[in-house]
Amino acid sequence: MSVKQAKIVAAGLEGIDAYRLDLEVDIRGGCPYMRVVGLPDASLREACERVKAAVRASGYRFPSSEVVVVNLVPARRRKEEGAAFDLPMALAILAADGQLAPERLAGTAAQGELSLDGRVRPVQGALAAGAALAAAGVRRLLVAPESARAAALGGGADFEVVPVGTLAEAVGVLTGGLSRPPLRASAEDVLARAEAAPAPDLADVRGVEAGKQALLLAAAGGHDLLLVGPPGAGKTMLARRLPGLLPPLDRDEMLEVSRIHAVARGVDPQDPDAGLVARRPFRAPHHTTSYAALVGGGARPRPGEASLAHKGVLFLDELPEFGRAALEALREPLESREVVVARARACVRFPADFQLVAAMNPCPCGHVGDPRRACRCAPAAVERYQGRVSGPLFDRIDISVRVVPPPVELLGAPPPPGAIASAVARERVVSARALQRERAGCLNARLDADALRRSLSLTPAARRALGAAARARVLSARGVAKVQRCARTAADLAGRERVNEGDVDLALSLRLPDLAA
Ligand SMILES: [Zn+2]
Repeated sequence: MSVKQAKIVAAGLEGIDAYRLDLEVDIRGGCPYMRVVGLPDASLREACERVKAAVRASGYRFPSSEVVVVNLVPARRRKEEGAAFDLPMALAILAADGQLAPERLAGTAAQGELSLDGRVRPVQGALAAGAALAAAGVRRLLVAPESARAAALGGGADFEVVPVGTLAEAVGVLTGGLSRPPLRASAEDVLARAEAAPAPDLADVRGVEAGKQALLLAAAGGHDLLLVGPPGAGKTMLARRLPGLLPPLDRDEMLEVSRIHAVARGVDPQDPDAGLVARRPFRAPHHTTSYAALVGGGARPRPGEASLAHKGVLFLDELPEFGRAALEALREPLESREVVVARARACVRFPADFQLVAAMNPCPCGHVGDPRRACRCAPAAVERYQGRVSGPLFDRIDISVRVVPPPVELLGAPPPPGAIASAVARERVVSARALQRERAGCLNARLDADALRRSLSLTPAARRALGAAARARVLSARGVAKVQRCARTAADLAGRERVNEGDVDLALSLRLPDLAA
């Protein structure tokens, strides 16, 4: 009994990532049937019917008097997107059956769903597939035209993507009968365009000097930030300007962020950037956002806000209004910088490495400490309100600052001559971050106790200032470490190797003693 075989490369999807797999087809004599081996889910069985119909509708023969076995290797890995295997399955079957020379499939991958009439339809995960296949050494991918740009952006400059509208076109490209120029796309172009697009600028914010100072320091050292102030003080306005102070995403970061967003909301085939997220995300979930929407979940796991803010900013406005459960749910991403959604069959990991900006009113009515209006709250109520902000979330916040509404005459006034623009601030941030990475391999916000001690380098006057403050303000050990990290960042922003007294004073001014232990 002769066995006819062929093999093609395909891509499986798992969470936000794709992986290379080999799709092998055996055709042999026997009682005719077709089966797919390798943990097939229900959609894979449906694929058999679609592939049969598409092969016939495209004018080829389906070997229906024989046994057709499709093997997905590695078999142990989960396949989330069964329809993506239609096109490679059909091509490998035609090759095994001798209707297409099997060696034509070498070095080429295929991805796409087939409709019953033989058209190739786009599937999810083209960006991830392009990236994974290119990384696995595959040089060419055949996909639906709608997926081609995303796959090309994922694959990079050396990766050829050939858009194919039908199964017959795919066969034509493989045999050389049909010439189709491969598509290559540059993620760098998309990044450059995103950089050039307008964004909220620091120069447009009037007053709130302490808030701006805090924002700059937060950006430079990667510190999480709490803004406290009455409604209308400009807390949201400040928070929205943090992504523009951070260094631009690099290519790998952009692809990772984009894969997360693609899994969360799918990709609009009309989008010329194929769903690429080229700017640091800014996510501002409302305090009524559900647990699953905040950290991810669902029967078919989807990333939540914590992951959608990956490599960007998660802004929690009116922090005390977020329920205890929601804040508790953020504990995992705050500690491990990822979210693991556990399901019966597998765990899905979603990265969640965001910078946190929280904002709150200083009291239930919002006006304690407001020069414009008197507070109506009882002192005990103010204390209770502020006490709701505690625990692991607050422990991670290095900087807390009071934001006072700017005087009315400043609103709408042109920027003062010295107003610092986001682009200028960002250059300083980038230099400060480079110093930190060179010194400790991470940003100051991530320094553990040992690394902080090694990195600090206080001048004698700075040491005395810190000691005096610690005694006078009863700083806890954690509080001292927060001040040290911020002072280190202040010195880095100034390009100074040693942390001086002024840096310590600045760091001390950027924390609210009544809130921060
Ligand atoms: Zn009040």
